[in-house]
Amino acid sequence: MNVRVRFPPSPTGPLHMGNVRTLLFNFLFAKKEGGVCILRVEDTDKERSKKEWEQDIIENLQWLGITWDEGPYRQSERTEIYKKYLEKLLKENKAYWCFCSEDILETVRQEQQSRGEAPRYPGICREIPTKEQEDRIANGEKGVVRFIVEPKKVSFTDLIRGEIVFDMALSGDIVIAKDMETPLYNFTAAVDDREMRITHVIRGEDHITNTPKQILLWEALGFGPAPLYAHLPLIMAEDHTKLSKRHGNNSVTRYRQEGYLPSAIINFLALLGWNPGDNREIFSLQELCKEFSLERVQKSPAVFSLERLDWINGEYIRVMAPDTLLKACAPFLPDTASMNQETLAAIVLLQKERLKKLSNITELSEFFFAKKLTYDTAILPWKGAALKATKNSLEATLRILEGIEENDWNKERLETILMPEARKTGDRGAMLWPLRVALTGKKGSPGPFEVAAILGKEKSIARVKSAIEKLQ
Ligand code: GLU
Repeated sequence: MNVRVRFPPSPTGPLHMGNVRTLLFNFLFAKKEGGVCILRVEDTDKERSKKEWEQDIIENLQWLGITWDEGPYRQSERTEIYKKYLEKLLKENKAYWCFCSEDILETVRQEQQSRGEAPRYPGICREIPTKEQEDRIANGEKGVVRFIVEPKKVSFTDLIRGEIVFDMALSGDIVIAKDMETPLYNFTAAVDDREMRITHVIRGEDHITNTPKQILLWEALGFGPAPLYAHLPLIMAEDHTKLSKRHGNNSVTRYRQEGYLPSAIINFLALLGWNPGDNREIFSLQELCKEFSLERVQKSPAVFSLERLDWINGEYIRVMAPDTLLKACAPFLPDTASMNQETLAAIVLLQKERLKKLSNITELSEFFFAKKLTYDTAILPWKGAALKATKNSLEATLRILEGIEENDWNKERLETILMPEARKTGDRGAMLWPLRVALTGKKGSPGPFEVAAILGKEKSIARVKSAIEKLQ
């Protein structure tokens, strides 16, 4: 079989992580099967669809490396195709014009509710003779096109969930177009899946109730056997409710701006519902393309854990070559003009182990760039040492530092000279802790030798002096 899958995002908002998980699974499946991916922009909702969101979708997919072989097709440019099929359904009496007002529909809903029935359209306008329907539309009356849903059982074999049966007697006739120029989702999806010769529809579980409607539309339009369907598990937030806007901004752009790497996002999303069958957790896109299979997609919901994304992202950061890492971090450094490339590279390299996302470098490197450090004097003393003793220790350190030649000022030299002195005090923290705090203004940071080496002699000495002043 020549596998053909679709990426059908609606450009009604920014591309979010949930969308990408679906598109990624389609992509991986197609790659594994040697198939084709089709990008189809589902922009039939004229009010909510925006060009800028289409742009956002395309740019972010390109950034992630999720590519497509055909398209983008836009549903808004395919009105004539849909019209042809709407006319066919109307002509064959498989659909009809419905003139019921919102008020009528509301009254019907309330009556059904009071009888404890599920709300469904009872087919009122189905009784209007076709000729009369056509005349009313021709005379400018407003109507919608309803598709006659046969009250029968519709079943399909979901590639992830197995046999699924829907009783369509509970459904009622569905609206498939607001007018001849404005077809709606279930209809356009069915038509396009056929027109684009889609073999596999892989989408979120939230679409499962649309599937029997689309299968009935395939039957009514004489399209032959419908595609195979696979419904992916829901993505839940850590509070175990469905991941949504309530849980904050989950747009790809946000993660991109915070310094998550495309390879890490792909890796993370692939594991949201799929697993390799063993405990490996790091996969390149190429590996995923080889290993992915729908058989290994779970039915139960997948939990979106930011902690896991951070961990995966950190793993990818740690294997980046120094040059690549510096380039990637550059936009997040507080100031790249005041220091040379070598110093910047040293800063980034020093903090590499601590980065969960590239933007962490801003906070982690701030103290290197600061003109003046601000911190609480109380953090200078080591383990309950007195201020006086701390001051004395820093003064002793200062004298040693002043004696070190400018061109001897590097991490190894500093360590060779200062370490024996620190050991002499019995507890080396007594000397090294205040020095490190004086250089960084922080309780936690890389060690004093690394930091002093990057700061250089002049800045390091100035910072030690300023700490001594604070202790006066
Ligand atoms: N445009 C729909 C969405 O974004 C696509 C649903 C489908 O895959 O059929 O949810």
